[in-house]
Amino acid sequence: MLNSFIYLSIISIALGNNIKDERLINSHITFAGIKFNVISNGNSSNRYIWLHGDEKTAKMALEHHIKRYSGLAFFIDNESREVPYKSTIIDPNRIFSRNGSYHALRKFKPGWAPGTLKKALDEIDDEREDFLNILMPAKGGLLISLHNNFRGYNVYKEKNKSQKTSIKANENPRDFMICTNAKDFEKLASGPYNVVLQNVLPENDDGSLSWEALRRNIRYLNIETRLGYLSKQKKMLKYIEETLD
Ligand SMILES: [Zn+2]
Repeated sequence: MLNSFIYLSIISIALGNNIKDERLINSHITFAGIKFNVISNGNSSNRYIWLHGDEKTAKMALEHHIKRYSGLAFFIDNESREVPYKSTIIDPNRIFSRNGSYHALRKFKPGWAPGTLKKALDEIDDEREDFLNILMPAKGGLLISLHNNFRGYNVYKEKNKSQKTSIKANENPRDFMICTNAKDFEKLASGPYNVVLQNVLPENDDGSLSWEALRRNIRYLNIETRLGYLSKQKKMLKYIEETLD
């Protein structure tokens, strides 16, 4: 079953000036019709994912990182935030639960013909399980997701959903990390970056990947920076890699 979803082609990928890097393995996987390009480097159980096609800084940070650190990196094959799904578009970070998928499917298409919404939800449920079995790290591994914000969104908007916060006076509130593991939080809180701990499930799960990771007891981290702040995001990623083990 899993093999029908992951297509490994053991070819080295061309980097920058056509320099081939033999350590990297390129493949792809689909979930709900959404294609993800997957780059594998070495044997680490760490997983990385870039989910929103318009957040290009996060993509570049991850491309940079996976050439230097081992793990499996998932890149969405899309240019905008939402992806086409059947006759609508959906936010790929709102379909990691059935409840989230229900709202995502209806956001841009409130009316569905009788029976078709349930069928779509059942389909997403089936494919999600296969996708998550590949995406989620083995016990002890980290799942790191990378995002960028454009304006407005910042660490203070996460305060109410967080159990602990460590907000630094000299850091921009739009650059921050969310983690789901209390020990990881303690380590990161003593470092230079803004970080919040979210280790209690909300009453209404919005279908984002972080809650699914928490349900599975996976150490999840979200690295959020302002769009365009590439060196910042690269540094935060490196910091996590060197601080958590
Ligand atoms: Zn995002």
